[in-house]
Amino acid sequence: MSDKLCNVGVAVPLRNSFTYKIPTRLAREIQVGCRVLVPFGKKSTVGVVTEFIDKPPAGAKLREIQKSLDVVPALNPKLLELGRWIASYYVAPIGEVYRAMLPPLTELHAQQRVVLTETGRAALDATLSANCALESDFSLQSNPLTAVSLPAQALPLLQKLNSAKSGLLLPAAIRSGIPLPDLLKLQRRALLEIRQDVQDRKRRMQRIIAWKDAPAAETLKPLLEKEQLLKNLLSIERGPLPFPQLLKLSGLSRAVIERLLGQGKLESWEEPLDPAEDPFDTGYTPPAHALNTEQERAFSAIRARFELGEFGVQLLHGVTGSGKTEVYLRAVQDTLARGKTAIILVPEIALTLWIGRQCRAWFGAHFEGVAVLHSALSDVERAREWWRVRNGEARVVVGTRSAIFAPVENLGLIIVDEEQESSYKQEETPRYHGRDVAIVRAKLENAVALLGSATPSLETYHHARSGKYELLSLTQRVADRALPSVEILDLREEFKQTHRTSPISSALRKGIEECLAFNTQALILINRRGYSWSVICRSCGASVQCANCSISMTHHKNRNRLECHYCGSTQSIPKKCAKCDSQYVYFFGEGSEQLEERLRKEFPKARIARLDRDTARTKRQYQETLSAFAEGALDILVGTQMLAKGHDFHRVTLVGVVGADSSLNMPDFRAAERTFQLLTQVAGRAGRGDLPGRVLIQTFYPDHYAIQDAVRQEYVAFFERELHFRRVMTYPPFISLANIIIRDRNLDKAIQWSKQLWQFLAPHAGNEIRVLGPASAPLSRLKSEFRFQFLLKSRKKAALAKLLSAGLAYASAKDIPDTALLVDMDPLQLL
Ligand code: ADP
Ligand code: ZN
Ligand code: ZN
Repeated sequence: MSDKLCNVGVAVPLRNSFTYKIPTRLAREIQVGCRVLVPFGKKSTVGVVTEFIDKPPAGAKLREIQKSLDVVPALNPKLLELGRWIASYYVAPIGEVYRAMLPPLTELHAQQRVVLTETGRAALDATLSANCALESDFSLQSNPLTAVSLPAQALPLLQKLNSAKSGLLLPAAIRSGIPLPDLLKLQRRALLEIRQDVQDRKRRMQRIIAWKDAPAAETLKPLLEKEQLLKNLLSIERGPLPFPQLLKLSGLSRAVIERLLGQGKLESWEEPLDPAEDPFDTGYTPPAHALNTEQERAFSAIRARFELGEFGVQLLHGVTGSGKTEVYLRAVQDTLARGKTAIILVPEIALTLWIGRQCRAWFGAHFEGVAVLHSALSDVERAREWWRVRNGEARVVVGTRSAIFAPVENLGLIIVDEEQESSYKQEETPRYHGRDVAIVRAKLENAVALLGSATPSLETYHHARSGKYELLSLTQRVADRALPSVEILDLREEFKQTHRTSPISSALRKGIEECLAFNTQALILINRRGYSWSVICRSCGASVQCANCSISMTHHKNRNRLECHYCGSTQSIPKKCAKCDSQYVYFFGEGSEQLEERLRKEFPKARIARLDRDTARTKRQYQETLSAFAEGALDILVGTQMLAKGHDFHRVTLVGVVGADSSLNMPDFRAAERTFQLLTQVAGRAGRGDLPGRVLIQTFYPDHYAIQDAVRQEYVAFFERELHFRRVMTYPPFISLANIIIRDRNLDKAIQWSKQLWQFLAPHAGNEIRVLGPASAPLSRLKSEFRFQFLLKSRKKAALAKLLSAGLAYASAKDIPDTALLVDMDPLQLL
């Protein structure tokens, strides 16, 4: 008898698939979509079974699958298909695609549980009460909906399941006399369910020590010196403390504390080391509002789309503060009422907490029913949430990019909030775009994709206007609030008058003074972090470059060093120029750190904080600063574009933009679009409460259309101009773009491979596909690698994908290593 064979997607950067033999002992267990352990090289690795095959590939010596990790296939057929689409569209290895779709590996803590379903319980009741005829075989009944009779052998197990509240562990169920294949048959008939649970790794606990006030009768006894010390520490200075910390702070020995515990002067208890609930979750949920006319109109269009019961894409284009979230929540509510599930994608982690909390308030009794998935969760937490979704326990998923792979069944709605955000694009293999995958998934599952934004990407709005997507608009802010007034401050004029360049113009200074006087708040946006973003020698003009990248080092004053923002390497601050030995080293260009310092100097009484990647290293720091600002404990918040996103502060009356327009100089065809989006978004943070808002944009390019249109907050005008530019220059959305980077530490190799690839690409260049390159990439050196670039343009996506995969096959035939080639379909960054 010939072996059973299957292909397995193994998470390695190789593009072929791998065939394995299925040992007989696993034959009945392994299904397509299951994760399996397979030998790979000298190690074992985890892969996903992608298909069964009949014939082994020629000449291969096949090895055997070692273990099956799932009873319920981790990936259902729809997700497998989505994975295949991603692999082919983004030209990515299938194994790496599936790895990105799967939960973190925590198998050692996972267990499978068998539980009775409602159908099972009904069938059991019917059988027991009416004494229905029992079947003699497991698979007689073909229609699960009419399953009122049961196989006789299964009766004892089902009875046991009925009395066990949380079901039985899988091995116990098997021991009760039903082998796994028969259990699977019962599952197929929906009588029972096999669920995968991820166990909390044993919660790490800590012992807390507290002072115990003595009963009145004993208070007369004077305390010993050591006791007095502990009493002060534990009841006045600090409060209850973890044991190790108490030892350190008191300087007392373990024995002394144990003795006092024994005497009842101290008490102790255990607490989890990391509490499960997010301690920075303020618990605040905004009240539900009755929809206004525009919101109502948008919502009915969404409902009408649901009524059709078929795939469609809608764009909710709503100005900042128009109440898009409220519309999302109604749409989800409606989806759930139709018995379907929903995924909400948000562009950053902080927003998962915010939207997640609102969803729980709306839909999740006792925090169940809503799952939150993002990369800052621990592996165990993430795996647990993932399997809660897979098991059907959560029907609403809120998360960042990868939550688009959440294994919900019966998907009705995918919301992509702030669809233009670049954080939806994964900048490592597989280089997918979360929004585009959302649309493909919606199509596969016959669901609705709802994209929302105040500043939609050119691509999306283009589709909405051409009728491919349905356009829903919210043109007004809620509660008749006005959009903020936006003013331009021409820095060239300012310089003419004052003959100095200060990042804080006199108008901005006056604006801040007004805020302080009226006790309102100001947000100040600056585009770079650090103290100075360039270090230059005044004598010879040399700038300090990173040793590994072709990029200037940034000066960080607090950390007293220079840092590369691309590879993270550091240098000490030079006293002399490394090239010419001159002492005239000059720090140039203000970053957020310097701006904060300057604001503190100019407004010594103001309460000021900074929010950028240096001050918000952790979720805790980030949330603390935002909460402090939201609660009014701060007057001025200065920071990078982290400030611009989504936040709903009600007392901000002034938004100042300092130097954010320098992004217009980036060597990227999306520079204008990004600048417009950023300015509009940050302007949208002003005047969201009862007080009107004012925005001051300081710029050297007051005439640029991206700035002019942001000032007028005219999205459509900007869209027209930018679309014209894209058409003339043949850029997306008129063509599709692919970026190929060739990289190596050895310059000669990088050049040689670029030439080889050119030989392959050149004959294909023509009317259908334009090939630009090879050229030095804008970042010609990054992390010690030299980089060259081809840019491919075509009106036909399919032709592009075909050429790319042929190119990769050619490269591998020419022994160009897989790691030297980086292929980016629909790139967002061309650096
Ligand atoms: P957007 O995402 O469109 O910028 P949000 O969804 O954050 O706007 O809503 C802005 C504010 O308006 C929130 O505080 C929200 O609670 C409130 N809001 C939403 N809908 C209404 C409504 N119909 N009436 C009054 N306030 C509303
Ligand atoms: Zn010099
Ligand atoms: Zn570097």
